[in-house]
Amino acid sequence: MSEQLAKELQLEEENAAFPEVVAAAEGPFITGENIDTSSDLMLAQMLQMEFDREYDAQLRREEKKINGDSKVSISFENYRKVHPYDSDSSEDEVDWQDTRHDPYRADKPTTTPKRGFIGKGKDITTKHDEVVCGRKNTARMENFAPEFQVGDGIGMDLKLSNQVFNALKQHAYSEERRSARLHEKKEHSTAEKAVDPKTRLLLYKMVNSGMLETITGCISTGKESVVFHAYGGNATEDKVIPPECAIKVFKTTLNEFKNRDKYIKDDYRFKDRFSKLNPRKIIRMWAEKEMHNLTRMQDAGIPCPQVVILKKHVLVMSFIGQDQVPAPKLKDVTLSSEDMKKAYYQILNMMQQLYRECNLVHADLSEYNMLWHDGKVWLIDVSQSVEPTHPHGLEFLFRDCRNVSQFFQKGGVAEALNERELFNAVSGLNITADNEVDFQAEIEALEKMNEDHVQNHGKKLSTFSSDGDPPIYDE
Ligand code: ADP
Ligand code: MG
Repeated sequence: MSEQLAKELQLEEENAAFPEVVAAAEGPFITGENIDTSSDLMLAQMLQMEFDREYDAQLRREEKKINGDSKVSISFENYRKVHPYDSDSSEDEVDWQDTRHDPYRADKPTTTPKRGFIGKGKDITTKHDEVVCGRKNTARMENFAPEFQVGDGIGMDLKLSNQVFNALKQHAYSEERRSARLHEKKEHSTAEKAVDPKTRLLLYKMVNSGMLETITGCISTGKESVVFHAYGGNATEDKVIPPECAIKVFKTTLNEFKNRDKYIKDDYRFKDRFSKLNPRKIIRMWAEKEMHNLTRMQDAGIPCPQVVILKKHVLVMSFIGQDQVPAPKLKDVTLSSEDMKKAYYQILNMMQQLYRECNLVHADLSEYNMLWHDGKVWLIDVSQSVEPTHPHGLEFLFRDCRNVSQFFQKGGVAEALNERELFNAVSGLNITADNEVDFQAEIEALEKMNEDHVQNHGKKLSTFSSDGDPPIYDE
């Protein structure tokens, strides 16, 4: 039978076996008025992911069958759909530290001293000895990039000839470079597409479960998060879903988060967990932090989004704004001088409440993270907020105060305190330095005192002692 004929026959057979695939595509799912193709891409991606996984599983089965118990095996690695460096599915399960200690690691090979041989008389072994050399080469495979799979070779008494070792080394290096390239590509693509397939799936499930009615579009793409607008769906037994929701997706690309370590690493609430986590989990922790902080603020009655639900790195909260239009940031509205003054006093009070009742410092407070809605200011973006006794808590507070002071002083609010007065008013501390440098030095001294307390007593101060309650400012 000619190859051509064989192909045709196979095609016929396939068409006969799967006619419903075509039918389904034209079937009940798409109607004239419902040609919504927005989720098609996602569905296709989900199916593709599923297909790739099955394909790889099949490949592994074949690989196993062919290799059997044979000592020499061939690998189908290069034919896999999901290249090991593309896949991060294992990341969810494996913690960093679990892989640090490798119980299978072979003992270090004995080294040959400078003189070039060991032993005496007949038992002399030189560094050129084939067996010693082979073993050394095997052990040197450990120096390859961690993701380069060297199999059980290190554990066995395997002797690699120089030639084989050099070829492997070459291969390891080029794989390392390829991995770096792939990684770079991946980072780019997630940045462009805003959300990766896993996140899409999460969002899709939220709509599918009826919790959300529709996700209408993206409100903001920042360095660390993407925010979407959605119409709320049906209430569940224990939850009322607001009519409009904001969905904050914390980006799972890791680069931007590296320099934010300092906020969370020293936050005692997360301290025990930080060191044990892989980067993906750390990002979930940011989302978790935002949730906890919003809840504290809500309890204190500070105007802020209300938490609806947290799923992994996706936080759903109430939408500040109306009819899909988010409330403007304070930096984007022009307020009458009366409203400006009102906003100022409100923020002053909120900062005090935040500090005293919520035991929090916003740590990224500025006209960018305050929305003007319903004639008042709403605070958002609190994933980086920390407790005042965080090792840098007071410095963060001072920075917040500087932003707020400058904004309102420039905005013509004559009553606006300067940053040092504001800092004292919020914290109730009485730092008297009259210039910024000395003031900052005193802040750092206080932080150091707290750190010393931690060193000596194993716990931090519950609060910084102040000379009584901070003054209450009112209009
Ligand atoms: P980022 O860390 O990226 O700055 P934010 O929490 O500040 O994240 O959100 C980015 C933008 O998304 C905000 O400036 C605001 O315009 C919008 N936004 C965030 N949360 C809400 C919300 N609950 N309601 C309305 N708009 C929101
Ligand atoms: Mg922001």
